[in-house]
Amino acid sequence: SLPLFVAAQQSAKEDPKKIAVIDVTKKESFTFTQLLEDAAALRKHIIETLGSTSSGDLNEQRVAYLCPAGYDYVVTSWAIWAAGGVCVPLCTSHPVKELLYTIGDSDPSLIIIHPAFEKVAPALREAVPTEIPFIGLDPFTRNENPSLPSFSPSFPLDRRALMIYTSGTTSNPKGCVTTHENITFQASCLVKAWEYRPSDHLIHVLPLHHVHGIINGLTASLLSGVTVEMHPKFDPKVIWERWQDCGSSTMFMAVPTIYSRLNDYFDSHIRGTESESSARAGAKALRLVVSGSAALPTPIKAKFAEITGQVLLERYGMTEIGMGISCGLEVEKRIDGSVGWPLPGVEVRLTEKETGRIIDAVDEDGMIEIKGKNVFHEYWRRPEATASEFTADGWFKTGDCAIRDSTGAYFIQGRASVDIIKSGGYKISALQVERVMLALNQIQEVAVVGLKDIEWGERVAAVVKFREGAEIELPALRAELKKELAAYKVPSVLKPVDNIERNAMGKVNKKVLVQKYWPDKA
Ligand code: ATP
Ligand code: MG
Repeated sequence: SLPLFVAAQQSAKEDPKKIAVIDVTKKESFTFTQLLEDAAALRKHIIETLGSTSSGDLNEQRVAYLCPAGYDYVVTSWAIWAAGGVCVPLCTSHPVKELLYTIGDSDPSLIIIHPAFEKVAPALREAVPTEIPFIGLDPFTRNENPSLPSFSPSFPLDRRALMIYTSGTTSNPKGCVTTHENITFQASCLVKAWEYRPSDHLIHVLPLHHVHGIINGLTASLLSGVTVEMHPKFDPKVIWERWQDCGSSTMFMAVPTIYSRLNDYFDSHIRGTESESSARAGAKALRLVVSGSAALPTPIKAKFAEITGQVLLERYGMTEIGMGISCGLEVEKRIDGSVGWPLPGVEVRLTEKETGRIIDAVDEDGMIEIKGKNVFHEYWRRPEATASEFTADGWFKTGDCAIRDSTGAYFIQGRASVDIIKSGGYKISALQVERVMLALNQIQEVAVVGLKDIEWGERVAAVVKFREGAEIELPALRAELKKELAAYKVPSVLKPVDNIERNAMGKVNKKVLVQKYWPDKA
């Protein structure tokens, strides 16, 4: 039987009233019993819709679905799993063109469109081959008095379960396929490391087409009987209010830009008001506050700690591996700028980029490679890409560069392809330069890139969004940065911009950025 369903049955048996999901949009709570029953009902509807092509088992057919973050999303994905299908969650903020890319690439047998996205349906219907059925979510009605369904889906664990597209930061998003075994393992190592427990309450604000929201948020929580409070999107005002009412069993997970917005909101709307002390106290009481998906700039972390007393727990992961490296629960052991140590059951090593030599030395940078049951099954229909990302001895090559200290803690230096700048014989981590630049009051956002250069190999350039009315010229900026950085790391090219474009996960595509501003140096 699928572990997630077994766990939910268990939670429901132990406490029939136990809440699995609080849907903030619907203003309703749903028990584990209700969730299992609704998933069983939708499973039936899915199988009936595909009737002629399958006999009660979708047998790894893909089902793509466009659903806002909420209870219906959970029911839909569980129903697809219960039917033996592969979940392909679509990104709710994607324009039609990108939705069609994911649909075209994943080749689903069925598309489910939540009523909230009715308006997008006609454009998709027009472009998608007519033999692929579309369904809404109205036909399955909820039973007011649910009882625990006897049905428990039983499939081999090596069956494909989920296809998440990579964020597309470095090239076209790739469909990353994981099995039930992979996702259960990815979730379980977090459950162990971060000690999820039934008394916990997760405030969930992340998008649900990405590993952070799906695995760390939803799956790990529901696997351990945690109640998940699902918000349709992140709103700093709502979160500050919620924190005041929640207690010491509350968990929160987000990306660095969200913490930055929480900090800004506190400064502009809460600091100095009568709710200041209750807001600080509410945030301070949280059991677990996690940051990941991109490098956490030290100033954002420090500011959050100043406001809340919380030292953000950083972890490193990617679509292909779930999470690989994480700080632990013990706050005193967390090291600034470090994502921590390998998670239980995950093997991590560093290798030299050019030769593949395994690096044992402390403080020497190398490429992160990962092995474990957490590692994905394949890139969908891209056998060459899959093969080229693994070493001959079966390690997954992440493409990210890191150094390790004497305690075994990892410090991410960035992506070898765009964040490691080679200038005048030096290797420079763009992430380190960005961290220092973000500490300046004048700078709101920055992306540091390397520009091709005959003399230097590459030159360090910075695309900067200054705070309103706070622009500074390059010489003054350089003088300021030289106080913190070796001269060769200080950008020699500055491009002030009004906006730094980011993808749905808040990540900057640096290749596109260079192409845009310096097409001859890309
Ligand atoms: P694509 O593979 O399509 O280019 P992507 O790599 O951005 O997109 P994801 O799988 O969502 O897609 O992101 C994983 C990457 O995010 C990692 O390879 C790493 O570069 C970065 N990352 C994740 N967590 C951290 C972290 N804590 N610190 C620094 N970087 C991180
Ligand atoms: Mg990637």
